[in-house]
Amino acid sequence: MKIRSGFIGSIGQTPLLRLGRLSDETGCDILAKAEFLNPGGSVKDRAALYILDDAERHGRLRPGGTVVEGTAGNTGIGLAHICAARGYRCIIVIPDNQSPEKLDLLRTLGAEVRPVPPKPYKDPDNYQKIAGRLAAELPNAIWANQFDNLANRQAHLETTGPEIWADTEGRVDAFVCATGTGGTLAGVARSLKAREPKVRIVLADPMGSALYHWVKHGELLAEGSSITEGIGTTRITANLEGTPIDDAVQVDDPTCVAMVYRLLREEGLFVGGSSGINLAAAVQVARELGPGHTVVTLLCDRGGLYAGRLFNAAWLEEKGLLAAAAPPPAPLLAP
Ligand code: PMP
Repeated sequence: MKIRSGFIGSIGQTPLLRLGRLSDETGCDILAKAEFLNPGGSVKDRAALYILDDAERHGRLRPGGTVVEGTAGNTGIGLAHICAARGYRCIIVIPDNQSPEKLDLLRTLGAEVRPVPPKPYKDPDNYQKIAGRLAAELPNAIWANQFDNLANRQAHLETTGPEIWADTEGRVDAFVCATGTGGTLAGVARSLKAREPKVRIVLADPMGSALYHWVKHGELLAEGSSITEGIGTTRITANLEGTPIDDAVQVDDPTCVAMVYRLLREEGLFVGGSSGINLAAAVQVARELGPGHTVVTLLCDRGGLYAGRLFNAAWLEEKGLLAAAAPPPAPLLAP
């Protein structure tokens, strides 16, 4: 019998998709792991499960306990699902500039949502620090701490990476991926390099993130900004530390939006902005490598979370990005 155990049992083992047009265009196999097909809709279900399993195993999270997290959304969504399934209270501290769809979904899933004004990491009122303080104040509560909790990258070391290796039968020339906490890139990079040190690991970075400059020049430096959510960072998290990264590609918003709409119109894939960053960078890496190579990346989450933004013509126009989505997304125009 092929029966999985509820929400938790359906996390992972996502399909690896060959993207026909992009592959034909580059002469490479452009493969994207469909992480948006995880039950909570994103790659972060994996980290959420590993973080909670680890806390339970070490006796930090006990029945009736509370899980607190600072998150741009997807980790919170994964945690909220699992907390509902396991009977934990879930409190999510989230910057109030994240998409309203994410906040609504979190509330629907039973999480207590605390939107806070966005503040840089060094500010004591940064959302991650508020989450840490809140967890310390509450009885029988843990702070999931996805940025520095190594259970996050362990999820990708033990699941995402080995799945990519198995599904490609070891034919991977490059793995390309954007980072938020760094868990996905760190875990998959280690897993693939352990099997084949020649696999090229490439960071895909939006504008406004400091990592591109760090990989290229050894120094954290952020310039510009991005409409993407959940990726880009200005510090080296514990999860990211020591990751074997060979190169980095910076992707601006027009390139990201154009790719998101190509994925929608040419491949029928409805995914969020970080997937656009990943695929745009993967195509660049494929061009650099030349025909005949296999480049693997991720489709991180679903487009539905961004219906009012990335898929809304009025919003795109306001951001000066409507031309990048050409032809305009007419059916999704705001009333
Ligand atoms: N894409 C999206 C949409 C995300 O929400 C996240 C996580 N915040 C990522 C990519 C990056 O994943 P990671 O935290 O493993 O670096």
